[in-house]
Amino acid sequence: MKVHLKQIPPEGLHLEGDEDCPIEGLEDEDVRCAGPLSYKIDIGVSGGALWANGSLHQSVELRCVSCLEKFVHEIQVREFAVHTELQGPETVDLTPFMREDLLLNLPGHPRCDRDGDRVCRAKEIETAEQNTKREADWTALDRLKLKR
Ligand SMILES: [Zn+2]
Repeated sequence: MKVHLKQIPPEGLHLEGDEDCPIEGLEDEDVRCAGPLSYKIDIGVSGGALWANGSLHQSVELRCVSCLEKFVHEIQVREFAVHTELQGPETVDLTPFMREDLLLNLPGHPRCDRDGDRVCRAKEIETAEQNTKREADWTALDRLKLKR
């Protein structure tokens, strides 16, 4: 996302919208863009530097470390903040800053039930196994009774 310095008035500028997902190319790490990046930021220029702050939202498809199923997670960066010295050119690219903040907020060990809107299948299997075991115990007990 390139910002033209000439378009920024002295009082700053509010920007809101969608951009291409800035964290493409991470398929090997099971991170896939699942939509555009949406941003709400305020930017301004002061003292030879560009500042920006606001929030970012990016939907990504991740793979659950527990059941290995894919699920969609929304990365939320609530306090996106940039302060960068102006190097002379008339445009500043905010994409690398956005990319970095999104990656920092990516869950390290993603679990599909982390947002609470679904039950991880690995957990379901675990519970099912426990139930089967319990039934087996009862069968053993029944057999014991029969012998008497
Ligand atoms: Zn899972």
